[in-house]
Amino acid sequence: MNDLPTRKIRLLMELRSAGITDTATLSAIETVPRESFVESQFLDQAYANSALPISCGQTISQPLVVGLMTQALELTDRHKVLEVGTGSGYQAAILAAVCRRVYTIERHRELLAQAEGRFKKLGIHNVTAMVGDGYKGWPAQAPFDRIICTAASRVTPSELVAQLSDEGGIMVLPVGDPAGLHQEVIRVRKDGKKFHSERMFPVRFVPMVQGVPDVGKGR
Ligand code: SAH
Repeated sequence: MNDLPTRKIRLLMELRSAGITDTATLSAIETVPRESFVESQFLDQAYANSALPISCGQTISQPLVVGLMTQALELTDRHKVLEVGTGSGYQAAILAAVCRRVYTIERHRELLAQAEGRFKKLGIHNVTAMVGDGYKGWPAQAPFDRIICTAASRVTPSELVAQLSDEGGIMVLPVGDPAGLHQEVIRVRKDGKKFHSERMFPVRFVPMVQGVPDVGKGR
C-alpha cells in the first residue's frame, strides 16, 4: 500500500478538475485518511474515486460526492452540523475537519460502533454520534446551521427542515427513488420562514429507511 499517497494526490487532482474548488473541503479530503474508513479488503481502493461496500449492506460514498456535498454546505468553523447516515464515519470526519461540531445519526448499531472507534483512534473529538432514526433528527441539539443526509429520501423530511436554523440554514440531501435510479442532490436554504430549493447533481445513494433495526436481526 506504499502508493496510497500517490493515489491520494491523483484523486485530489481529479476532484479539483471535477469542480471541487473549496480549499477547506480539499484540505479535509487531503487530511482525513480514507484508508481508515474502508474495509481491509478494499484498502488498495481507498483513494479510488468510487463508493465501496461497508458492513450492513451499506456503502462509503464516492469521494467526489463527499466533496461536492461538503462544498455545497458552505461551511465555516463556527457551524454546528447534523449528519444523517454515519455509515463508515468518513463524511462525518470530513465535516469535523471543517466545522465546529458534528452530530451524526446512524440506524445500524454495528456501523455506529465501528465509526466511533475510528473517530477515537484518529483523535477526532468534535463528533457526537448516536443510534437512531435520522428522519426524527436530533431535537435536543436543534437548531443546526447545516444538515446533510447521506441516504436518499423520497421527499425532504419535514422534521429535518424544522431543525434547520432560520438564519441562513442550509441542508444538502439526496432526494428521489429509493432504488437509486432517479435521485439528485438538492440544497435547501432557509431564511426566516422562507425556503429556497435548488437541484444540484444526480447521485445514487442507499435509501433512508424509517426506524431502527431490532437488535439481533441486523436489518
Ligand atoms: N456518510 C456515510 C455514508 C453511509 S451510507 C459514509 O461516509 O460512510 C448511508 C447510511 O445511512 C447507512 O449506513 C444507513 O444505515 C444509514 N441510514 C439509512 N436510513 C437511516 C435513518 N433513517 N437514520 C439514520 N441512518 C440511516
